[in-house]
Amino acid sequence: MVLEPICCPTYHTPNVIKDGKSNEGKQRYRCRNTECSQASFIRNYTCRGYLTEVKQ
Ligand SMILES: [Zn+2]
Repeated sequence: MVLEPICCPTYHTPNVIKDGKSNEGKQRYRCRNTECSQASFIRNYTCRGYLTEVKQ
């Protein structure tokens, strides 16, 4: 089993914490960046796009 980092869809950083479950039973996460406007989100995003974006 491979653990993929969970990223905030706004800041694209894996600095998130679990935030309970959504109504559909999906794991929700919350960004720990206090400047981030993304209150909470469901995991549908991985850090791969971020890693290719930041390579410059
Ligand atoms: Zn964020």
